[in-house]
Amino acid sequence: MRVFVIGAGITGSLITRELSKYDLEVHVIDKAPDIGWGVTKANSAIVHGGYDDPPGSVRAQFAALGNKMYDELSNELDFDFIRTGSYVVAFKEEDVEYLKELKKRGVKNGVSNLEILTSEELKNREPNLNKDIKAALWCPTAGITEPWEVSIAAIENAKDNGAIVHLDEKVLDIIVQNQKVKKILTDKGEYNADIIINAAGLFADEIAKMAGVADFEIFPRKGEYILLDKKLKGLVNAVIFPTPTKKSKGILVVPTVDGGILLGPNAVDLPKDQKNNLETTKEGLNEVYEKSKALVPSIDISYSVKTFAGLRPETKNKDFIIGATKIWGFINVAGIRSPGLTAAPAIAKYITEKVIPEDLGLNLSKKSNFNPFRKRIPHLEETNLEEWEKIVKKDPRFGRTVCFCNNVSEGEIVEAIKRGAKTLDGVKFRTRASFGRCQGGFCSLKILEIISRELSIPLEEIKQNYKNSWIVKGKVRP
Ligand SMILES: Cc1cc2nc3c(=O)[nH]c(=O)nc-3n(C[C@H](O)[C@H](O)[C@H](O)COP(=O)(O)OP(=O)(O)OC[C@H]3O[C@@H](n4cnc5c(N)ncnc54)[C@H](O)[C@@H]3O)c2cc1C
Repeated sequence: MRVFVIGAGITGSLITRELSKYDLEVHVIDKAPDIGWGVTKANSAIVHGGYDDPPGSVRAQFAALGNKMYDELSNELDFDFIRTGSYVVAFKEEDVEYLKELKKRGVKNGVSNLEILTSEELKNREPNLNKDIKAALWCPTAGITEPWEVSIAAIENAKDNGAIVHLDEKVLDIIVQNQKVKKILTDKGEYNADIIINAAGLFADEIAKMAGVADFEIFPRKGEYILLDKKLKGLVNAVIFPTPTKKSKGILVVPTVDGGILLGPNAVDLPKDQKNNLETTKEGLNEVYEKSKALVPSIDISYSVKTFAGLRPETKNKDFIIGATKIWGFINVAGIRSPGLTAAPAIAKYITEKVIPEDLGLNLSKKSNFNPFRKRIPHLEETNLEEWEKIVKKDPRFGRTVCFCNNVSEGEIVEAIKRGAKTLDGVKFRTRASFGRCQGGFCSLKILEIISRELSIPLEEIKQNYKNSWIVKGKVRP
């Protein structure tokens, strides 16, 4: 039985890994040159508690459950996951009432240990928050992670367990015969397929259309961010939300797993044809700055190291579309807006444990030799000196620092290339080299040289990320 997953974002990656536990021929295809470069690359990186999704919604079915699965997942796949907890803060009496409502909702969704704190209690825990805050909803189970690293880890592990990964390959059409999926056509070839799982993020409506099940549309909703330097580590210890609006969870202040502070996102609806519009705007960034400053007045924008934007894949019903369709073998995992990162582990299990066996009527048999474990690239910043010395003794390249902002060695970069990085961003998202204060100003050329040497390709051919994003054009002197 041949299964194709379209999309190597957080949902597609975790589904691929889940499928690789079974006796199946599993393929994952992504049009991007690397893993997790769609919606998964730019978001708030929060593993939400799961209290604010409307009870009864598909989101609520998966969010709290997905959250609970993160400890085991991060243990098996060796990615960073920290249960920082989160606060929703209220400035007005009516917002305090809303916190009570959210708490009730959370209880219905199966979220435990939610608590409403007074402003005094909050001040002791988070001294940098606005002193006018009246109360806060504390959710100890919320956490933070690096979504792209979760995807990379899941695909590396799926590959170890036999999955076949196609990157830089765009799905162009799906052939259906007698109401059953038959083939996938891509810009590189065609493949027979028994099951196709549509996890194509912003483009899942277009993939569904190819299979003849176009009963939903996806609209991009932009969210802009400002990332602040790691020097501000500890400004907040947990994720800080304002009281949510009908449209979104609002603009947040979020600690990142490597010690930075993330501000954002705003929420701007874009026309359907702007699914690639990742530009930041002056108005958007101003809004992010002003609203995050309302939460944490001491935020100093001069510590900003990067601005960026992400696009939420929104549907009219604001809910996930997950399940089998009228075309046998075609399964949608679409409209995966927030809290998709949180829900993804639970969605992946649902596909293999419910949709395939119950809706398609297939009995899947588990592999006896599935290995659930994957090891991260050793990272200088996270390793004690004694351990590091041992690593350097084995391979002296781990002793040569390339990225000074984030302390990334040549050995780490070489290992990232071995694991599939071919571009500057591929190295950046696997090692955090050029992710720091200088944003690659000092280390990019060195990284280019290492990629060129390791892959035996000329410098001029190496890209930042996508097609045509070359960095150097040629030699100034012969
Ligand atoms: C601003 C913002 C903030 C968010 N914050 C959070 C948060 O804090 N917590 C949380 O839980 N969730 C959050 N989310 C939601 C979360 O990021 C998404 O739900 C999740 O990343 C969606 O992952 P995905 O795998 O479904 O889609 P994607 O990551 O977009 O993956 C889909 C993949 O399909 C590929 N693809 C598309 N078309 C084709 C084709 N024709 N052929 C081959 N490949 C194709 C794409 O290249 C892409 O890599 C946020 C989202 C945004 C935008």
